[in-house]
Amino acid sequence: MTDVFDQAQARDLLNLQQALEVQQAIAANTPRLVARGFCYNPLCEEDFDPADNGRLFCGPSCAEIHQRYSQHR
Ligand SMILES: [Zn+2]
Repeated sequence: MTDVFDQAQARDLLNLQQALEVQQAIAANTPRLVARGFCYNPLCEEDFDPADNGRLFCGPSCAEIHQRYSQHR
């Protein structure tokens, strides 16, 4: 039964890594974005911990939505 848990854990790690990569990629593609203490996703705008300095999005889904919104202009 450990297989299921191992797989879930591996997937979580992968998701986390992808989330970081997506955030970094988007930050690199949008140099004008400056961390403002809350999520750039206009549908989210969740406040971040001040310790999360430089953070732009909660995760890849928020980054994706933000990108979709900015591309529509
Ligand atoms: Zn968000």
